[in-house]
Amino acid sequence: MSAVFDSPSFDGHETVSYAHCPETGLKSIIAIHSTALGPAAGGCRMRLYDREDEALTDVLRLSRGMTYKNAMAELPLGGGKAVVIGDPAKDKTDRFLESLGSAVDRLGGQYWIAEDMGIGPEDMAHVARRTRFVAGLTKGRAASGDPSPVTAEGVFRGLKIAVKHKLQRPSVKGLTVAIQGIGHVGYGLARLLHEAGASPVVSDVNEATLKSAVAEFGADVVDPDAIYDVDADVFAPCAAGAILNAGTIPRLKVPVVAGAANNQLDVPQSGELLKQRDILYAPDYVINGGGIINVAAEISGNYEPAWVREKLDRLMQTLDAVFTEAARQNLPPSEVADRIARQRIEEARLRKAG
Ligand code: NAD
Repeated sequence: MSAVFDSPSFDGHETVSYAHCPETGLKSIIAIHSTALGPAAGGCRMRLYDREDEALTDVLRLSRGMTYKNAMAELPLGGGKAVVIGDPAKDKTDRFLESLGSAVDRLGGQYWIAEDMGIGPEDMAHVARRTRFVAGLTKGRAASGDPSPVTAEGVFRGLKIAVKHKLQRPSVKGLTVAIQGIGHVGYGLARLLHEAGASPVVSDVNEATLKSAVAEFGADVVDPDAIYDVDADVFAPCAAGAILNAGTIPRLKVPVVAGAANNQLDVPQSGELLKQRDILYAPDYVINGGGIINVAAEISGNYEPAWVREKLDRLMQTLDAVFTEAARQNLPPSEVADRIARQRIEEARLRKAG
């Protein structure tokens, strides 16, 4: 049995619920970190975990990240996340996804589910048969569809802000950007960079995706592990988490790290390590908040593109302010962002408590 309360990633979670359906084989964990700012919202990740405690750590870290992300994006939402233990290529039957919907519904609206790695908009349609607390749908009154294009746009704009601060350059034209993972977000980012005159160097474990990137953008390709050694202007992690750590940070040959992946720092102290190497790091849960803004518009019941745009503009101003404040106080931007997020959450908690 995994130890929930003693887990280093527990961090005051309000609710952690395990769901199992013997008929469909569903095994999932839904973690609600905080509802201080509103009902918890965050995507559902499906993957094979070697051990149950790995899935628990993942969901706890991700749901806490959602609380911080929603706070920084000034959304009326708390933080939560779901993980499903299984192979997305084999285990996702319609009934399996419906039983996931039932698990979400039992939480009575405390948690809104959307897609994340291994789960797509088409899966959400099956989840929606059992619960109304679902977003990222492609059909329906307020459907917002795939959030990745908005995430990619936010990361692109945030990357340019980081470049402005660190390299004093007004654009990315002529820059080289090393992108780790060219999936939904990474591929969109590569396209935006290419259109803006930057050169993407990419890595992925999917050969077909790499071929498309070479054909479409003339991208240079490196092996997955070699991406940390690329001599570039920016490193954009857009695959897994915890890839900025004591093993990889000393290898980086970039002045800026700005990408979409969640939980890029393995531990908060890695933010300080990046600063010591004079690398400007864009805090992940700030730069990648575009997708949840899109999802939040759907949750509000009235999807308004103008509202999404306004929130994304505001988030980019916040990122700019985080860099300015970090320089002023000589702190890692990750620490400045953590402080702002914690303060917003604590103020909301006190307001709620009356
Ligand atoms: P995705 O699954 O579509 O893409 C991930 C890509 O990374 C895939 O192409 C995969 O083959 C590749 N990959 C896996 N292991 C790799 C490795 N070792 N080296 C290089 N590439 C590898 O996922 P996505 O939706 O693009 O999300 C990417 C990251 O951004 C995730 O961490 C996700 O949590 C985060 N994120 C996504 C969104 C969104 O809107 N989709 C929003 C916020 C954060």
